[in-house]
Amino acid sequence: MTVVKCHYCKKMFPKEETEYVCAGPQYYHKECYEKVKNENAVIIAIHDKMKKLCGKQYNKQKIDAKIAAYKKMGFTVAGVKKALDYWYDIRKEDPTKAYGSIAIVEYIYGEAADYWYAQEISKHQYDTTDFGSWKNSLESEKIIVSQTVTQKPKRLKLFELD
Ligand SMILES: [Zn+2]
Repeated sequence: MTVVKCHYCKKMFPKEETEYVCAGPQYYHKECYEKVKNENAVIIAIHDKMKKLCGKQYNKQKIDAKIAAYKKMGFTVAGVKKALDYWYDIRKEDPTKAYGSIAIVEYIYGEAADYWYAQEISKHQYDTTDFGSWKNSLESEKIIVSQTVTQKPKRLKLFELD
């Protein structure tokens, strides 16, 4: 039995018992390879978008470095793209402030997740997967917030009216 490592999820699997794809020197679970292909398509879309928005300021290296860093932070590539869609298509923010990169994403990821999540709920399309586990953490924060709100002390009476 030959055991190889999936280049995407980093898990080992036996070649004989697994559906896999071999791309150059790398092995992938079949479903992981699909994810890689989808991710790569989204990364190309991010570059196309920023190229259009930033013109001469567009910086491929900076954007690639940011995408890699965001993945390590737990952001999904689809979430990064949707955060940029939110910032530039919905909020119409000024792309000259981006200096050719996508550093804004880490500041707006949660806000964008909330926005798109609300859109999807209103369309009855309950899909939270684009932003990965991010939504769950926001929801637990919200629960904490609403609990603290209900525990707010009653207003002090400042005036006594007869
Ligand atoms: Zn895998």
